[in-house]
Amino acid sequence: MSGDCLFCRIVRREVPAKVVAENEWCLAFHDIGPQAPTHLLVIPKEHVASLNDVTDHGIIARLFAMATDIARAEGFAEKGYRTVINTRDDGGQTVHHLHVHLLAGRRLTWPPG
Ligand code: AMP
Ligand code: ZN
Repeated sequence: MSGDCLFCRIVRREVPAKVVAENEWCLAFHDIGPQAPTHLLVIPKEHVASLNDVTDHGIIARLFAMATDIARAEGFAEKGYRTVINTRDDGGQTVHHLHVHLLAGRRLTWPPG
């Protein structure tokens, strides 16, 4: 499963990505198709297919801790930003490795499409 997974390949540096943060558990990099001036993805280094497949729920805290650290470091924490996890088909998930979208730099609308 993780062998062919695109985001596992990014973790192994087999596929290039613009990495902005990394620790023991998580990696953050620029989305290839940005939907806002800043659009990052924060992923667990270990393969987890979706939110449905999380067994160690500590990973959720670690993903969001990295996202908020980045928001502060990049200076958009105060103005605001959006964090989104799409889950399976109805949620719009296209890459089946858990990821948090971190969007910032413009006024985002609600509700999403
Ligand atoms: P989702 O639709 O929630 O599964 O989001 C998957 C995201 O991965 C999309 O926003 C894509 O633009 C992004 N993506 C796909 N391939 C790559 C890649 N090679 N590097 C960075 N982001 C990617
Ligand atoms: Zn994976």
